[in-house]
Amino acid sequence: MAIYIVLLGPPGAGKGTQAKIISEKMDLAHISSGDLFRENLKAQTELGKLAQVYMNRGELVPDDVTIAMVQARLQRPDCKAGALLDGFPRTPAQAEALSEMLAKNHESVTAVPYISVPAEVLIERLGGRWSCRAQGHVYHEKYNPPKTRGICDIDGSELYQREDDKAETVEKRIRVYFDQTAPLIDYYRQKNLLMEIDGTKSIEEVAGEIVSFLEKVV
Ligand code: ADP
Ligand code: ADP
Repeated sequence: MAIYIVLLGPPGAGKGTQAKIISEKMDLAHISSGDLFRENLKAQTELGKLAQVYMNRGELVPDDVTIAMVQARLQRPDCKAGALLDGFPRTPAQAEALSEMLAKNHESVTAVPYISVPAEVLIERLGGRWSCRAQGHVYHEKYNPPKTRGICDIDGSELYQREDDKAETVEKRIRVYFDQTAPLIDYYRQKNLLMEIDGTKSIEEVAGEIVSFLEKVV
């Protein structure tokens, strides 16, 4: 059986940070829907241009295009053993679509670590987030600074502050999360797949808790 892990949590919870650590440890493909949209944006594809409108407003990109994009990504050869999904699903319709696409191959979601962080902390985290242009590695000016200001430790590319990490857009994204994504907590809890992790701990402690949860279920 392939392994499919869904990382759930509000914007700024630490999904991207943890996904990089866990996917490397477990040798699983890391699929970030946000990174896929940003790659499309950089390449100025039709999908990228469409997504930009929603991303800039802090809203979700419509389900049909998001689902099609992730489905195509999951068919790539590096996902043979499964994947670590970061930022997808984000709506009940996306969760149902994921379950259906996996069921076609007699697969299913293996586990859902839910990184829980209160709203006040999220605003501070996103306000200080710096992202790497090349591969989406993330830093924080206070909590996880790069060795050299403005440069990614891992690949040397430029660090930038995302347009949608501005205070107004962040508040909108958090509202959208509570409205459209938070229902997935109960959805996966009812399926007995959810483990709530305290995301206010240090990056290393959170990673340790996610790994020990996954070791029990994988
Ligand atoms: P998400 O992908 O859920 O939006 P990120 O992984 O991009 O979250 O993290 C958001 C910001 O918070 C980044 O600047 C990151 O460096 C920082 N961060 C992530 N995890 C922690 C943590 N446990 N403690 C403090 N800061 C963190
Ligand atoms: P964060 O890391 O802060 O949670 P992401 O990089 O995951 O943010 O997402 C950035 C934006 O990309 C979202 O605000 C939304 O517009 C779009 N997006 C990403 N994933 C999805 C998804 N699964 N469904 C719809 N829109 C998405």
